[in-house]
Amino acid sequence: MPTTTPARPFDTPERASFRDTVQRFIDVEIAPHADAWDEAGDFPWALHEKAGALGLFGFGIDEAYGGLGFDDALMRFDSAVAMGYAGIGGVNASLFSRGIMTGPIQHLASEDQKAEALTAIVSGQVGGALAMTEPSGGSDLARMKTRAHRDGEDWLISGEKTFITGGMKASWFVVGARTGGDGFGGVSLFLVPSDAPGFSRTAITNKMGWWASDTATLHFDDCRVPASAQLGQEGACLLAIMDNFNYERLSLAAGCLGMARRCLDDAIDYAQQRETFGKPLIKHQAIRHKIADMSMKIDALDSYLQMIAWRINQAREAGAPMPAAELAKVKVLGSKTAEFCANEAMQILGGAGYLRGCAVERIYREVKVMAIGGGSEEIMRDLAVKQMGL
Ligand SMILES: Cc1cc2nc3c(=O)[nH]c(=O)nc-3n(C[C@H](O)[C@H](O)[C@H](O)COP(=O)(O)OP(=O)(O)OC[C@H]3O[C@@H](n4cnc5c(N)ncnc54)[C@H](O)[C@@H]3O)c2cc1C
Repeated sequence: MPTTTPARPFDTPERASFRDTVQRFIDVEIAPHADAWDEAGDFPWALHEKAGALGLFGFGIDEAYGGLGFDDALMRFDSAVAMGYAGIGGVNASLFSRGIMTGPIQHLASEDQKAEALTAIVSGQVGGALAMTEPSGGSDLARMKTRAHRDGEDWLISGEKTFITGGMKASWFVVGARTGGDGFGGVSLFLVPSDAPGFSRTAITNKMGWWASDTATLHFDDCRVPASAQLGQEGACLLAIMDNFNYERLSLAAGCLGMARRCLDDAIDYAQQRETFGKPLIKHQAIRHKIADMSMKIDALDSYLQMIAWRINQAREAGAPMPAAELAKVKVLGSKTAEFCANEAMQILGGAGYLRGCAVERIYREVKVMAIGGGSEEIMRDLAVKQMGL
């Protein structure tokens, strides 16, 4: 565990035990292979099954479909922090991107669809991905161009989705497609299997980071799915995935906290060992100030995130809306903190940090996507101010 983890005001024996389970999984199953998997641009599918067996994909999913039968934002937070700290974002992305598509299936799919798709995805036996972003843009989803129209009892979907995490290996996709007029009100969700007629995919292999994750462009060429593939009410896409986006923002910000803390810990380790000008690096004031600045930002992010996770739990129990403004703000605070800490840690490590095979180098490459995916920093700031009623 990181040496800098402070005491947690909302801790319970169950949360501590869950955190230990996740940490053991990372220490045994991921950490020893992180560099090799990153270089290979891939990792064994068995890891999905092992994570599934531990229940890591089961938050908010009924036990009947292999889920945990409960939700806990603080446990989600702990899991994401630990994965961020492991310092291999590609594995994290591929494993947990299914989490942004299982929610709509749990809430909107039929019993048969859940028995077939949800159980297999939550167990880690197969993959699932959320397909919203299109080549023409990801921020303004209300303008999505992919269309679905009725053909007898079926739907025919036409269009393209891109940057889809887990998209090359996934067996199921939750896809946004326009069934009505302009705006978000005209967009519906569909559950599409990878063997649907008219579906194909192309790998995106030149990413700056997240090398170990598979990312795809999806092609829907009059892709035929049955009427039952439509999830929820026609045109109710935004409503159906709002909570999903909120949980994604919590996880991304918590992942950033883990990344930032790993950068701080590795920088401290290095600065204690390295000597320059006759004394350890850590004894030079300019370096000590960097450590202080990183630590301050990390503590602030940690406290804010724990409070927000607690508020999410309260809101869920009360049937109240999620704290959307706070989640938007903390998503920005998270990516900014991780970016700052990756930069400062790299500077403290000097040339050693610039070499592949070093967690700080990988995190430095992988912080940028945290500022773009799951709602970019610009869009999150706009959303936060809108939620303030301005
Ligand atoms: C590695 C990776 C994995 C991803 N995984 C998935 C996935 O699994 N599923 C999925 O659906 N999508 C995924 N995405 C897509 C991601 O959600 C989008 O990249 C993101 O929403 C931004 O969309 P865009 O890249 O099209 O940028 P654009 O929407 O074209 O925006 C370009 C830039 O302009 C800024 N901008 C846009 N509008 C405004 C405005 N009004 N004011 C100020 N600035 C603005 C944006 O913040 C951005 O910085 C992934 C992306 C990456 C890079």
